[in-house]
Amino acid sequence: MKVQKATIPLTIKAKLERDLLAAGRELSKAFKIYEQAEIALRTSPDCLLRPDESMQFEGMSRSFDQALGEWRRAIDLVETNPRVAERSSRGRAWRDPLDPGGLHYFVSLAGPDDLDYRTRLQQAWEREEFRLEAMEEDLAQVCGRATRNGTPCQSLGAYWPGGARKSGCTRHMTPDEKAQLSALWDEVVATIDCPGCVSRAGVACDPDKMVPVDGFFPTPKSFNGRVVHTPRLNAFASST
Ligand SMILES: [Zn+2]
Ligand SMILES: [Zn+2]
Repeated sequence: MKVQKATIPLTIKAKLERDLLAAGRELSKAFKIYEQAEIALRTSPDCLLRPDESMQFEGMSRSFDQALGEWRRAIDLVETNPRVAERSSRGRAWRDPLDPGGLHYFVSLAGPDDLDYRTRLQQAWEREEFRLEAMEEDLAQVCGRATRNGTPCQSLGAYWPGGARKSGCTRHMTPDEKAQLSALWDEVVATIDCPGCVSRAGVACDPDKMVPVDGFFPTPKSFNGRVVHTPRLNAFASST
């Protein structure tokens, strides 16, 4: 059973814009501090700084200029809308936002068949939006079975491999459903390698260990004493 979506999350674009504004504010604050310190250094270097401090400051000033230069070059590069490789040489997926180093790296790997930056960015946004919607949809699948006072139960339904919460919650499932679902979860662990913690088939998930799957750290789910990473549960369903 589904309930109406409670809140509409910030769309990904609004969120990016908000992050960008926040970053811009931080940057201009940092600029001010930098400028004031530089003026202080230039006007009275001897009484403010010892020679080693002065050298350290010159070094900081150089690396600041360098970083700024890198960002400017990255922005110029983005404006030419270059082709961007989909994966790094080690298979890591392209994902925004990239720092200047990451951007240059993925551009340098791109071949003639690769998509351009803006298309990739658009796809990344759509993927993110889809992921958020799926997450929200998942959290909206409540048990719905009658509680003791007769109202529908609002707890999350139990998670079935493949992503549906089609039965009631752990408390309101029938013993048969519980046994069936426990066996399914055991079958997932027995037959599927976990992409989330790289446990091989037959080895239980290690909830403390996580590697990113498609750029995101997977969360573990639990049922009846078992703990399994979501991508492993979903891989089972897509293979059957
Ligand atoms: Zn329930
Ligand atoms: Zn796992």
